[in-house]
Amino acid sequence: MDRTAADAHMASERLTYEDASDLAEDNYRKLKDKAGKKGNNRGKKADNNKPKGNKKEDTNWKKVAPGPGEPQQKVVNGKTWKYSAHCICWSTTHGTDGHTGPRRS
Ligand SMILES: [Zn+2]
Repeated sequence: MDRTAADAHMASERLTYEDASDLAEDNYRKLKDKAGKKGNNRGKKADNNKPKGNKKEDTNWKKVAPGPGEPQQKVVNGKTWKYSAHCICWSTTHGTDGHTGPRRS
């Protein structure tokens, strides 16, 4: 491939990419709208198992890292939670040491 052809190729690639990402964004927004509506219905079913109004608090504390000197493990609702520095959240399955998969440095 000579230089001009390569440039033309890259230009067309870029255009295609931008078009695709615009489309993807559009679709994503539509999906999100749909998911939001479906999510409400699903949420009602899920709420049967969980106390109401707890959902937001639930997700919040899991993302709060333990401060310096605080234990990396705690028991909430009878479950042992470990803090994974790689997930940057509390997990019942593993702590920082037991983390597998992508790691955040
Ligand atoms: Zn983890």
